[in-house]
Amino acid sequence: MPPTSIKIEHARYVITVDDQRRIIRDGSVLVERGRITRVGRAAELADARADRIIDARDLVVTPGFFNGHMHISYAHPVRGIFPDDVGSPLKHVFALQMAMTEEEEYHATLLGLLELVRSGTVCLLDPGSTKFPDACLQAYEAAGIRVILGECVTDRDAPFPLPKYPTAEAAARTTAFLDKWNGRLDGRVRAWAMPFSPETCSAELLQVLHRATEERGTGLTLHHGSGDQARRDYQARGAKNPTEYLEGLGVLGPRTLLAHALGIDDSEIDCIARTGTAVTMCPVTAAKGARGVGAHGRMPELVGRGVRVALGCDSPNNSNHLDMIRAMNMAAIQYKDARQDMSQIPAETALELGTRLGAAAMGLGDETGVIAPGRRADLVLFDTQRPEWQAIWNPVNNLVYNADGRSVHTVVIDGRVVIDGYRQTFVDERRLYGTVQEIGERLQERTGIAFPTSRWPII
Ligand SMILES: [Zn+2]
Repeated sequence: MPPTSIKIEHARYVITVDDQRRIIRDGSVLVERGRITRVGRAAELADARADRIIDARDLVVTPGFFNGHMHISYAHPVRGIFPDDVGSPLKHVFALQMAMTEEEEYHATLLGLLELVRSGTVCLLDPGSTKFPDACLQAYEAAGIRVILGECVTDRDAPFPLPKYPTAEAAARTTAFLDKWNGRLDGRVRAWAMPFSPETCSAELLQVLHRATEERGTGLTLHHGSGDQARRDYQARGAKNPTEYLEGLGVLGPRTLLAHALGIDDSEIDCIARTGTAVTMCPVTAAKGARGVGAHGRMPELVGRGVRVALGCDSPNNSNHLDMIRAMNMAAIQYKDARQDMSQIPAETALELGTRLGAAAMGLGDETGVIAPGRRADLVLFDTQRPEWQAIWNPVNNLVYNADGRSVHTVVIDGRVVIDGYRQTFVDERRLYGTVQEIGERLQERTGIAFPTSRWPII
C-alpha cells in the first residue's frame, strides 16, 4: 500500500506559487490522503507526523508542471525523422498517426508518459491524438499522471488526413467519449471535446460540441491561428477575424482552450480576454518551426490581460522534447530576444505559466497548480546537488535559466510518489526503448514515410 501521508521535510526552498508567491526557506509540506494539508517553515511543521518522511534538505520543491498541448500518440517511434528542410511535416504526421495500431500506440504512449513524469509533468492535455484510449488508460494508470483526453473530430475537408465524419456522427462520437471517460482514474482523467480547428469543423459542429461541454462541465480545445491572410479569409465569410468568428458562434469562454494562437492582433486579444478564454502556447514548437514569434507571438499581452495561458510541448516531432522546464526557459528568453527587451516574461512569469496558470487554463485551477493547503498534492522535488543548480541565490532563476528536467529527483502526483529518487517502477525502460525503436521501423515501412536519416553519412 502506498503511504497515505507524506512529509517533505526541511526543503532547501519550497516555491509555493501560492497567492502571495511565497518562497519558503527550510520549508516542509505535509500531504495527507492525496491533498496538501500543511505548508510552512520546517519549525512550524515540527509536530507533523507522516507514514513517510522525505528528507528534502538538498531539494527544491515546486508545484507539478502542466503541459497544455501535447500530441502523445504517434511521434515517439519516429522522433527525429524529419530533416530540418522538410517544410511542414503535417501531412506525414497525420498519416503516421492514422497508421498506428493499438499495441503501437500503447507503447509510444508509455514512453511519452515516462519522459513527461520524469521531467516533472503531472498533467498533460492530448489534443485528440489518442486513437485507442482503452489501451492507453493502462499506461495512464501505471504512470499515475493526470490526463485530459478527447477524440479529434472534423466534418470538413482538411489539407492533411484527419478523422472526418458527418456532423451528427462527429457530435455523437464526442458526447459518447465525454460520457465514457470523464472522471476516470479517481478524477485524474478528464474528457474534453476536441474539434481539430475552426477551418476543419463546421460552425454547427463547434456549437454542438461547446454545448455538450457546458452540459457536462468539461472543456473544449482546438487549434487556433490568425494573421493577415486568415483575417482576410474570415472577412470574406463575414467575420472580422478567426477569433471573433468563434466568439460569434458562442464557442469562446472559460471552457475553451485555444492552442497556439499565433498571429492574433489587439482586437483578438481583447476578444480572448473579455470572453475568459484560455490559451496554450508552444514556445519551442514555434521557435523550431520558424513561426516567427517575434512578429506573431503575443504571450506577454495575453498574460498582461490576465488570460489563463498554459505552455505546451506539442509533439515529439515539433518541439521534440517534452521537458516543461525547457519550455519555460524558451518562454522566458524568446520574447526578450524578439522584442529586444529583457523585461519580457520574467522567470517568475515563466514558472507561473508552467504551474498555476497552466492548471487554470486546463480547468484545474481550483484543485491543483500551487502548493497550498487543500490543493491536490502534485509536487516536483529538484535535486540541487548538481552543478547547474549552484550557487543558489534566487531558486526561481536557477530553475528557469539553469536547470532542466534532468534534475527532477522526485515527483508526487495526487499524493502518490511516481518518481522516487530518480527511480520509477511502472515500466522496464530498456525493453520499452527497444520496442519503440522497432515500432518506428515498422511504421516507416508500412506507410512508406521515410527520409534520409542524416545529412551526414552514417557509415
Ligand atoms: Zn496540436
